[in-house]
Amino acid sequence: MAVALIVAAGRGERLGSGRPKALVPLCGRPMLEWSVAALRVVPAVTQIVIALPADELGAAPEGTVAVSGGVQRSHSVRNALTVCAGGDPVIVHDAARPLATSRLFEQALDELGRHPEAAAVIAAAPVADTIKETGDDGATVSRTLDRASLWAVQTPQVFRRAALEHALTSASDEELGRATDDAWLVERSGGVVRILGSDPGNMKITTPEDLRVAELLLAELRT
Ligand code: C5P
Repeated sequence: MAVALIVAAGRGERLGSGRPKALVPLCGRPMLEWSVAALRVVPAVTQIVIALPADELGAAPEGTVAVSGGVQRSHSVRNALTVCAGGDPVIVHDAARPLATSRLFEQALDELGRHPEAAAVIAAAPVADTIKETGDDGATVSRTLDRASLWAVQTPQVFRRAALEHALTSASDEELGRATDDAWLVERSGGVVRILGSDPGNMKITTPEDLRVAELLLAELRT
């Protein structure tokens, strides 16, 4: 059976609300609780572990397990995995993506089940913009990337437990600090990572504007 780790220990300074981003109210409940609600109705998920700021452990909803987060996101994932005794595969999800649906979690688990060669399946949306790379001056374009093969990576990311454990324990603290997603850590250990095409609506909340857009989208989903 699967376990889910939600990372919610970021301070969310760019949101400017004065409290951890995951606990900022969104359509009447703390942002974190939208992800918990979606995961609770996924039959395969037997445990939900949440990494929170050390002084906010009481914010974990009933029936979930709270753990203190780390300095950077991947340290928080590692802390959450450590307290979660069993369960395979492991779903990793950012509390900052409150619009992830139960269906998306289930699709990611199913896709991993269908691909025995894969160590991980990650949600990602096709890139809509043209992406260019600049040279050393940070302004002169050095090349234009082929958009057809580019993906904007999201969470959930679903891992075979052994692959995630190996990736997190073999990386140094400095490498964990540089990892903006856990799949990168698995890729560098040679694991096969598959993309699951997802909707750009599974947005990440970073700024106050994102919060307003998420409120509108959630209100629409509930009508
Ligand atoms: O800061 P950012 O939005 O990229 O963080 C992504 C997710 O990782 C958020 O849900 C945030 O709460 C979480 N995080 C964490 N521990 C950290 C930093 C971020 O759990 N040290």
